[in-house]
Amino acid sequence: MTSDIETSLRETLTEQYKYAEQIGLNELSSGNLSCRFEDGMLISPSGASAETIAPENIVRVSLDGEWEGDRKPSSEWRMHAAVYQAQESAEAVVHTHSDYCVALACQLLPLPGFHYLVGSFGGNDVPCVPYSTFGTQTLGDDAANALKTRTACLLGNHGMICRGKNLKSAVNLAHRLEIMCRQYLLTRQLGEPDLLTDEQWAEFFDRAKKVSYGRYI
Ligand SMILES: [Zn+2]
Repeated sequence: MTSDIETSLRETLTEQYKYAEQIGLNELSSGNLSCRFEDGMLISPSGASAETIAPENIVRVSLDGEWEGDRKPSSEWRMHAAVYQAQESAEAVVHTHSDYCVALACQLLPLPGFHYLVGSFGGNDVPCVPYSTFGTQTLGDDAANALKTRTACLLGNHGMICRGKNLKSAVNLAHRLEIMCRQYLLTRQLGEPDLLTDEQWAEFFDRAKKVSYGRYI
């Protein structure tokens, strides 16, 4: 029996999956979305696409990989589960292969503190974790570890992952990271940008607390 809460989360996940595709974050089904539900999660199915995804084919999975129904969960369920296990405040997780995130991740480059809004991911950079094969526990553990102190990280030779307090804010965060990686690549074309100093970061975080940029963190 599906509860009202589960029905509503399945609908939101479907909407946000389609929205992520619409804004170019998830071309050809290369990403996946999940939200925490009871002691596990709801996640987009393996082989999902914006055309076929529907509330009824979202998969309910426990954090150790038991799933129900005839659809397999996304092959990256371990990475999503690892984030929920490591971070109590994570209510939704988004993973994409969006262009500019991939461009940096394939150079194994973190996004440095070239712009103050990098701080909206919780620190003075967005780290990049080393490459591991998709779907593995190593990839999940590396991502979950990076997401303890940041709301997003890049995945070496792969893409990005982020966590949010709900599906909408997690998709917005994935969008923001894509925008900022694009802006970083643009500024690199003019030379190395100046990075914010430690003092400037201290002032940023002080001010962010006052004006509730903390909503991203
Ligand atoms: Zn992937």
